[in-house]
Amino acid sequence: MRVIIVGAGPAGLVLAHALLRAGIDDFVVLERRSDVVEASGAGLGLWPHSVRVLDQLGNGLLEAAQKMAPRMEKSLRLGAKGEVILETNLFSQIEENHGHPFMLFERARLIQLLHAHLPNASTRIHTNKHVTSLSQTPSAITVSCADGTSYTGSIVLGADGVHSTIRRLLLPALRTPFTATYQCLFGTSPLPALLPPGEMTELASGPLSIQILTTPTLAVWFLYLRHPTPRPPSTSSYPDAEMHALAARYAAHAASHSGLLFRDLWDSRIRAKLVDLEEGVLRTWSAGRAALVGDAAHKMASNLALGANSAVESAVVLVNGLRALVQREGPEPGAEGVRAVLEGWQREREGRVGWCVWVSGSMLGWAGWLNWGLWFLGLFGAAGDERLVADVVLPWVARDGVVLDFVPETGGKVGRVPWTHASPELLN
Ligand SMILES: Cc1cc2nc3c(=O)[nH]c(=O)nc-3n(C[C@H](O)[C@H](O)[C@H](O)COP(=O)(O)OP(=O)(O)OC[C@H]3O[C@@H](n4cnc5c(N)ncnc54)[C@H](O)[C@@H]3O)c2cc1C
Repeated sequence: MRVIIVGAGPAGLVLAHALLRAGIDDFVVLERRSDVVEASGAGLGLWPHSVRVLDQLGNGLLEAAQKMAPRMEKSLRLGAKGEVILETNLFSQIEENHGHPFMLFERARLIQLLHAHLPNASTRIHTNKHVTSLSQTPSAITVSCADGTSYTGSIVLGADGVHSTIRRLLLPALRTPFTATYQCLFGTSPLPALLPPGEMTELASGPLSIQILTTPTLAVWFLYLRHPTPRPPSTSSYPDAEMHALAARYAAHAASHSGLLFRDLWDSRIRAKLVDLEEGVLRTWSAGRAALVGDAAHKMASNLALGANSAVESAVVLVNGLRALVQREGPEPGAEGVRAVLEGWQREREGRVGWCVWVSGSMLGWAGWLNWGLWFLGLFGAAGDERLVADVVLPWVARDGVVLDFVPETGGKVGRVPWTHASPELLN
């Protein structure tokens, strides 16, 4: 089975690693950029269930990630002026509960990790390949690129992001698949003296939320602003002038509990970008021999760090299905077999991913109310035991994460909360 992956983001690169693990090594990754690793974006956090998948993917990914990701410790929920409402050792609790830690990466470094550890990456990944068209027959599928080259295979996996070309080609009648309730101004700055490393602060102030995660050298920050009403998202980032105007509007706003103002982050920024945060899940994830994986099919607000983690999960379930298909039908599965796997994959994934979209949007929308609720519970000591969020809310995120159903974990870890899905090793 020849697989054509379009896009070398988190979804495309995890698909590549997982296909190799499944013994499906006839694949190619087409990436429109000239370099797979681009110095863009802010932070990208992997939850423990995705760390588990890194372990299964092998090729030294887990060990390299462990060396790279700094230790996260505390979480602070703040009121509008930066006053502390709840302080917990959230990240240590997550690790106690799920065995693996929450790993925070600079986005480019995570991509670099996935790229550098893919065997024969230079022959498998083709850059400067901007896919522009697609055609299929019952027995094969072909994509063509802007440079005139084309690639034919048994299946095309469109891992080409939220503004997916493959989605537009497969589902031309679909105009605006997602809505935007929030704008997000995000960036990175050198770690300010007023912030300790290993901390996450989340400040809620009416329609505004400011989230900061710190490493020993960096502050990764997000300023979320609710639109007056949800609207179709803009298809690219906002012009610089609008970004500067928004930053100026909130320059004097408190950003943390330690007297840090938003302007302290903004003025020292390494990079920043203003985007709409798309949210939603497509009704149709595949057509014939092509499927949409990751942000191309499901997109959520970034506050709970679930977008790339959901892309990893979708890639994992899809490769489980493709491997089983090849075992059943041999290396050249028929159109009906492919269709059945792709439809079954969507059915398996859409409930959980819909929940991830909902919970991310809700936690952002209710941030102020959540703070009041936690403050109120704190009066009775209920939040004071400080495990409430880690023990009651977050297990829903990590516990149900999926795994490759044919690869054991080498460093398998189980915390206080058992995994819903056992890897083969743990089944024996
Ligand atoms: C501010 C912000 C912070 C975030 N933080 C987190 C976080 O902490 N944790 C988390 O899990 N998620 C986070 N996310 C979400 C996460 O970034 C996405 O969910 C994730 O990148 C999706 O991966 P993907 O591979 O589906 O798409 P993308 O990362 O968008 O990758 C798509 C790739 O396809 C390529 N491509 C596009 N079109 C074509 C074409 N026509 N031909 C060839 N190649 C093409 C692109 O160049 C790109 O390399 C965040 C998002 C934002 C906006």
